[in-house]
Amino acid sequence: MDKYQVLAEYFGFHEFRQGQDELIDGILSGRDVMGVMPTGAGKSLCFQLPAVMLPGMTVVVSPLISLMKDQVSALTQCGIRAAYINGSLTEKQISVVMNRARNHEYKIIYVAPERLDAPAFCELCRDIEISMICVDEAHCVSQWGQDFRPSYLKISSFIAGFARRPVVCAFTATATKRVRDDIVRLIGLADPIQVVTGFDRENLYFEVVKPKDKLVALRRYLDLYSGTNGIVYCSSRKAVDELTQTLSEERYSVTAYHAGMPASERKRSQELFIQGEKEIIIATNAFGMGIDKSNVSFVIHYNMPGDIESYYQEAGRAGRDGSAANCVLLYSPNDVRIQKYFIDNPEDNPELTEKEKRELYLLRMDKLNHMINYCTKAPCLRNYILRYFGENPVGRCGNCSACNGSGMSIDITLQAQMIFSCIKRVREREDKEVIADILKGDATDYITYRKYDKIKTFGAMSDTAKSQILLHIDYFLSHMFIGERNGKLYLEEKSKDILYSGKRVRRLAEKQENKTLNKQKPLNVRLFLELKALRREFARKMSLPDFIIFTDATLRDMATAMPDSRGEMLKIAGVNERKYDKYGAAFLKVIIKHRVKDVAKAERP
Ligand code: ADP
Ligand code: MG
Repeated sequence: MDKYQVLAEYFGFHEFRQGQDELIDGILSGRDVMGVMPTGAGKSLCFQLPAVMLPGMTVVVSPLISLMKDQVSALTQCGIRAAYINGSLTEKQISVVMNRARNHEYKIIYVAPERLDAPAFCELCRDIEISMICVDEAHCVSQWGQDFRPSYLKISSFIAGFARRPVVCAFTATATKRVRDDIVRLIGLADPIQVVTGFDRENLYFEVVKPKDKLVALRRYLDLYSGTNGIVYCSSRKAVDELTQTLSEERYSVTAYHAGMPASERKRSQELFIQGEKEIIIATNAFGMGIDKSNVSFVIHYNMPGDIESYYQEAGRAGRDGSAANCVLLYSPNDVRIQKYFIDNPEDNPELTEKEKRELYLLRMDKLNHMINYCTKAPCLRNYILRYFGENPVGRCGNCSACNGSGMSIDITLQAQMIFSCIKRVREREDKEVIADILKGDATDYITYRKYDKIKTFGAMSDTAKSQILLHIDYFLSHMFIGERNGKLYLEEKSKDILYSGKRVRRLAEKQENKTLNKQKPLNVRLFLELKALRREFARKMSLPDFIIFTDATLRDMATAMPDSRGEMLKIAGVNERKYDKYGAAFLKVIIKHRVKDVAKAERP
């Protein structure tokens, strides 16, 4: 079988992505290789595919247990025999795996770096044919990378122990020169073929905002993105816990992840997110390396990370399936203080000399400065990142908040494509209602009579409410992507860019939000928190659970509608006469106090 056949047969893909071809050819010709590609580019395939074709077994060194498990199950799904050995297995399970490996039952075995000096494992590697050693997440070998793992330093002596040296390959998403040089030197790659692919991730929209109140901003984003999956990164465990609690009380579909949680809970949380039972995971940077969840459509940083490498890697977990995704960073000067604290109080590393410590300090400060500049000064966010990684983009990207002007926005390219192609299919002879019905997949008499239920776009937006489809159509009308003549929709020139030239469209959320704001007042967060505190008091006094007094939803309604009388209060869902008589008056008092404050504020010049 040649590499194309393996690609199709085992992986189900029909073409290589940028860089894969060259790296695979290198390995198959017996050369060492180093692949530097951004997260999501498809590095795994570069070693997994040749591993299938090479005669012996491939050993993959990988830093994280979760990563190994996922990759091995993905390989098994593809019909490639693979296994892993790490601390999550019992001794007995390890010996089963080792015996099977001895019987040539695996093409690929994943190991944690600690395994490389276990005598039994070394013996196994001497006894069977090892064709390739692959170091995944190879930046972990470098103290200058962001995830230094001292046990990665064992790799070179492990390789040196072979009588016949296997091919060695290394992969990372960290592209700074210093880290790249370290990888070649510390792993001992022999004159490797190096492939560094472009770092741009076109489908990601970058956004930096400096909100007055991060929680309020976060909620607005989560509402904007509701129904999709995303990650919210925080810089501390405490922030993760607090946010998770607040948001889950407000009925957001969230789960938490940080290294301070018991392993079983962490694992459960990760699974809930990966399987889509929870839409949002709120996490520290402990979450994510090697997570291959393809449908993450947003990554929000609640705090600024310490360097661009970390930021890009974390943000890059969005949109791995290639569809449009949002990367938002909520910046505040306090984030700088937090990161400075981390730099001033580093983890003790006895392997470093004083001079090296000083050097590391300066390096980290320099990295932090770049990160701050990204948040505060970059004229184009994407280009700033690309330049940081050594690329030389020209012009501006036009696809980030620095280029587009700030304001929440969402990508509606897909919706545009569906609506435009539907208009085209019906030869520009139908009105909005009919177009919306076709897209919704509503087989009305007229639609079946016209045989529109046979066209490709019929039901293409079946999971979108018809009212929403109509809103999209109105948006495209008002932005002159389409026009209306005698009530029939037709395509304007501008729509062709989107249908045929791969141009993207975004819609500013603010316009839409302002409309709803007029109808419906926003939640008064401070009031909501006060009402919750009051509820707590009642609950404690009466030894009842909070929600028996009033649910969060009821308090939210109160803090939104801000009723000012008994009658108004009784209109709130969840407040009946009995409850009003028991608690209502006390809650009403708090609300009225807030209304007075609001009025006073509004009247001041
Ligand atoms: P990373 O570079 O971050 O390690 P992965 O190897 O996990 O990325 O790959 C990211 C995604 O891209 C996976 O879902 C993988 O199946 C997919 N992928 C890799 N190569 C190809 C290809 N040639 N065609 C289509 N999808 C691919
Ligand atoms: Mg990977």
